[in-house]
Amino acid sequence: MRSRRILAALLAAGLTVTLTACGGGASRSAVILSGATVDTAATFEPDSTMARLKAAGKVTIGTKWDQPLFGQKGLDGKPGGFDVEVGKIVAAKLGLRADQIEWKEAPSKFREEIIERKDVDMVIATYTMNATRKKRITFSGPYYTAAQDLLVKRDNTTITGPDSLRPTKARVCSVAGSASAENVLKYIDAKQLVKFDVYSKCRDALRVGQVDAMTTDNAILAGYLSQSPTAFKLLGTPFTKEPYGIGISRGDVKFCEFIHQVMVDAAKNGTYQKAWTETAGKFNKAIPTLPEFDSCA
Ligand code: GLU
Repeated sequence: MRSRRILAALLAAGLTVTLTACGGGASRSAVILSGATVDTAATFEPDSTMARLKAAGKVTIGTKWDQPLFGQKGLDGKPGGFDVEVGKIVAAKLGLRADQIEWKEAPSKFREEIIERKDVDMVIATYTMNATRKKRITFSGPYYTAAQDLLVKRDNTTITGPDSLRPTKARVCSVAGSASAENVLKYIDAKQLVKFDVYSKCRDALRVGQVDAMTTDNAILAGYLSQSPTAFKLLGTPFTKEPYGIGISRGDVKFCEFIHQVMVDAAKNGTYQKAWTETAGKFNKAIPTLPEFDSCA
C-alpha cells in the first residue's frame, strides 16, 4: 500500500516535470530556428565522419559562450546565436536533432587544441580561416565574412579609427589566441595591448574605463553594442577581413566537403538566411550572402 502511494507520488511528480517542460515552451536551443529539417533518412559512406556521427546519435560542437548574436550561453545552459544555428543546420543534415548536439565552450586560444584532441567534432566560433591555423586543422568555409573594428565608450571623441590608437596612447583590449590581438599590433605598441581569455572581460574593462577601446570582429562587437547601445559605440572603421570557417580535424576532406554542400543547400533553401534573421539579424538587418567556399583539399 505504502509503496503504491510512493509510486503514485513519483508519477505525479514526473507528470508535473513533463508538464512544466512543455508549458514553459521548448528551450530555444532545442529548436532549429532556421527551420532546417532533420534528415533522418540520410545515408553516408561507411567510415566517414558523417556515418560515425549519425550512428553515434550525437555531435559535439565547440562555440563561444559570451558573444551575443553569434554564440552566447543562455539561462538554460545552452548557447544561441548565428554560429549555433549554423551548427544545427549541419547537425540536421547528419540526421541529428538540436537536442542531440553537445555544446562545449571554445575560447579563442583553445580552438585548434580541442579539435586536435578530438574533444569536439567541429568548432563554429567566429573562427577566422588563416594559414597558421590551417597547419593544425581544416576549415570548411567561409560561411560568413566579418571585419575587425573597434568598440569605444559612446562619449569617446579621441579614438576615431585604428590610426588614432598609437597617437592617443590608447589601452586596447583583445583576446589571447585571437587574430584580432595579432592584427592590432600594426596600429599600437605591444604595451598598449591588454589581453583576456574571453571578449566579455574586455567589454567589462571598457565599461569601467580600465581600457579605452576593445578590438575584434565587428560581428562580435555588434553583439555587445546591441546589449548596451547607450554605453558604447562601434567605430565602423574596418581594417581586416575575417572569413569564418567551421574547424574540423585536419585532412578530413570528406567532412569538409559535406559541410560545404550543406551550407550551399542552406543558402538555396533559405535556412541560412533564416538562421541569420533569427539571431544576429535581430540587430544587424543586412542578410549576408553565403561567400564562395574555399577548396577543402
Ligand atoms: N575571428 C577572429 C579569430 O578567429 C577573432 C574572433 C575570435 O577570437 O573568436 O581569432
